[in-house]
Amino acid sequence: MAPVDTPQYDYIVLGGGSGGSGSARRAAGWYGAKTMIVESGRSGGTCVNVGCVPKKMTWNFASVNETLHLAPHYGYDVPKDVNINYRHFKELRDATIKRLNGVYERNWGREGIDLVHGRARFVGPKTIEVQLEDGTKARYAGKHILIATGGRPIIPPIKGAEHGISSDGFFEIEDLPPKMAVVGAGYIAVELAGVMAAAGVEVHMYIRGDQFLRKFDPMIQKTMTERYEAVGVHIHRHHTGFEEVQLLQDGKGKDKLLKLVNPDGSSTEVNELLWAIGRAPEVEDLDLHVPGVSLNEHGFIPADDFQNTSVDGIYALGDVTGRAELTPVAIAAGRQLGNRLFGPPELKDSKLSYDNIPTVVFAHPEVGTIGLTEPEARARYGDDKIKVYYTKFTAMYYDVIPAEEKKKNPTEFKLICAGPEEKVVGLHILGLGVGEMLQGFGVAVKMGATKRDFDSCVAIHPTSAEELVTLR
Ligand SMILES: Cc1cc2nc3c(=O)[nH]c(=O)nc-3n(C[C@H](O)[C@H](O)[C@H](O)COP(=O)(O)OP(=O)(O)OC[C@H]3O[C@@H](n4cnc5c(N)ncnc54)[C@H](O)[C@@H]3O)c2cc1C
Repeated sequence: MAPVDTPQYDYIVLGGGSGGSGSARRAAGWYGAKTMIVESGRSGGTCVNVGCVPKKMTWNFASVNETLHLAPHYGYDVPKDVNINYRHFKELRDATIKRLNGVYERNWGREGIDLVHGRARFVGPKTIEVQLEDGTKARYAGKHILIATGGRPIIPPIKGAEHGISSDGFFEIEDLPPKMAVVGAGYIAVELAGVMAAAGVEVHMYIRGDQFLRKFDPMIQKTMTERYEAVGVHIHRHHTGFEEVQLLQDGKGKDKLLKLVNPDGSSTEVNELLWAIGRAPEVEDLDLHVPGVSLNEHGFIPADDFQNTSVDGIYALGDVTGRAELTPVAIAAGRQLGNRLFGPPELKDSKLSYDNIPTVVFAHPEVGTIGLTEPEARARYGDDKIKVYYTKFTAMYYDVIPAEEKKKNPTEFKLICAGPEEKVVGLHILGLGVGEMLQGFGVAVKMGATKRDFDSCVAIHPTSAEELVTLR
């Protein structure tokens, strides 16, 4: 038991990111639970500060450059070398994020949530201690404690790795590096390499296999890897890692110079190196052995469908669980947990369905995906129960550009249907505007739509999306 003078809460939330905020707000704002958030960094967590928000803003910034390059084909007189003031853009982006930090904190305050800035760790089964920013420590006890501490980028243990940056550091860049290496093949690597390439940076991607986005449908892996190459991204395949990174010159933008040494002794010089090789759960400082919360073999906190950990009254959700690491997933899981713990009796079994989560990769072009990949669908249902509908074309927007350029801008759709009723079990799309397209189709797939349902919807003409309801 915590001493009587330890402040007691109904709900203590560790981490004021997407999941923690979503859950705390549901608990306090809807049900009046006495709630506290402990946040050691900037309010809003990864998504707001070094994830979705600055990433999408940078994607928008790079998309403007792509539009400028296309503009002459439409008859606009745009100079060939438009000057890009990246520093100006970064200042605007930083200001947006700062505003969002304030929005988060004001929302918490309005809903009666106490915010404590500092690093939390367990000192008892239901008691935490926070290392406050002024150097002092404070203890708090909670009936329920949520761990929503997220994750952090992994930096490989090689000599000189610290001279590169992670995705966190990516958002600190003030001057565009003329030449940049990106190590990794997941969606963060592809997105950040894509924005840099679209902004005119010479990008070199180092990947372990033949193609990137290996967790996605093979159509997406193949077309996106080819597309990146077609627009000038240098893909270094079957890369086994650098032996060493040497800092030749410390500086910013073109004034920073790194030497990347390969195992065979050959080397490349770049102005920036981005490690995008995965993320690790943020658990080390929590002293989870005190309450006895178990970790899985990858260090994540396993949680059941109701976000319970191995310890009664301690819950985990979001990136720290390693499951569907996306902001809306963390928020939705957090809200459901708030409903379950503090809501009316009819919500006592609330939980998030992790099936059919739509997701978009803000690459160039965008990728959208929901449900099973073709290999997954074939493995689950059997080859003879699967029917695949497919189309590839060029969006009308690119009609004005020369034929050889057009090829570099594909739109490609795949619909995977299962069983005699042809239920849509996978939908994979890439091309101009698919990010916005996916949300509506996601509702249809989530509702269990069949190919016939898709076909029964009258097409919207002329759009790219209409091809999804007219597939033959
Ligand atoms: C570059 C990048 C781009 C992304 N783009 C997208 C996207 O487009 N769409 C999307 O849906 N998702 C995207 N994501 C993923 C998304 O950001 C995460 O899935 C989401 O933020 C997870 O929320 P969370 O609440 O689990 O953790 P977080 O948002 O990471 O929040 C955890 C919080 O806990 C705090 N914390 C950690 N340890 C402690 C401690 N001991 N005490 C107190 N506080 C602590 C941290 O400071 C942090 O603020 C992106 C991620 C990255 C890195």
